[in-house]
Amino acid sequence: MSVENINWYPGHMKKTRELIQDNLKLVDVVVELLDARIPVSSKNPIIDELVGGKPRIIVLNKSDLADSNVNKAWKSYLERNNDKNDDNEGQVEKTKVVLVDSMHGKGIKELMSVMQSMEDKINKDRVRQKKLRLMIVGVPNVGKSSLINRLTGRKATKTGDKPGVTKGKQWLTLENGMQLLDTPGILWPKFEDPNVGLALAFCGSIKEEILDKETLALRLIEKLQVEYPNLLMERYKLDELSEEGLENMDNIAMKRGFIMSGKRIDYERCARTVLDEFRSGLIGLISLERPEER
Ligand code: GDP
Repeated sequence: MSVENINWYPGHMKKTRELIQDNLKLVDVVVELLDARIPVSSKNPIIDELVGGKPRIIVLNKSDLADSNVNKAWKSYLERNNDKNDDNEGQVEKTKVVLVDSMHGKGIKELMSVMQSMEDKINKDRVRQKKLRLMIVGVPNVGKSSLINRLTGRKATKTGDKPGVTKGKQWLTLENGMQLLDTPGILWPKFEDPNVGLALAFCGSIKEEILDKETLALRLIEKLQVEYPNLLMERYKLDELSEEGLENMDNIAMKRGFIMSGKRIDYERCARTVLDEFRSGLIGLISLERPEER
């Protein structure tokens, strides 16, 4: 798989890393946004190193599109595996994981209450109480702007897809007085792993074409026929599934009437349909990565 056409050059990455590091110094807590359908592929490999010892909240966003049982499994897996030793008291600090749907505002209350308990903890021994300062980080399209809008109640955020935080620092004040860094930290995905590229492409998280659409859809069908056979059969009214992805793709196209002159299958249309329907949750609630595979 070629990743040359993806716009993340080493210089870019270095700059992004520096910008995020600078911004991290200004906040108490980092909200790391992951895509609930692909928590592994949507995680930036160096975020752990960047965040260092700073408290973190992991938000599994787009949880409305993912398999709810797998969501629960991810939540407990990530909580178990991200516990940190609290520096001075030797206590274990629990990393909180919150399932969120920024599109419809689900999970926002829970996220707010997790933030509140972090603020309380920071203020435990302080005479002058301070307001929690946060920043949101995540790969492109994971839902950073949507989450910021949810937290602030604003209609739109003026963020461009620029790596890192490029504008002058601006703080948004939430209703509870907490301070949110206006611009999210945009991280690059770990493209070196071809499976990561595929997962991000299935979810429509990278605009760049890593594969032609037809092959991408075929790969998705191959995955779904193994992991979610019933959903695939139901959606496309297939009586049975073949072990051959291409055969299933042909059958999907025929069921939907994607046939061109000369009885040729319109693979382009079939691919577009399957990808669109997967991305919008029409095939069903699907998680492409599971914690037990870790
Ligand atoms: P950003 O690039 O990280 O700022 O991502 P955006 O906030 O622009 O979101 C990318 C796309 O995902 C948009 O089309 C959003 O409407 C959509 N989106 C964001 N959060 C959610 C969510 O929780 N559920 C669903 N279904 N879609 C979401």
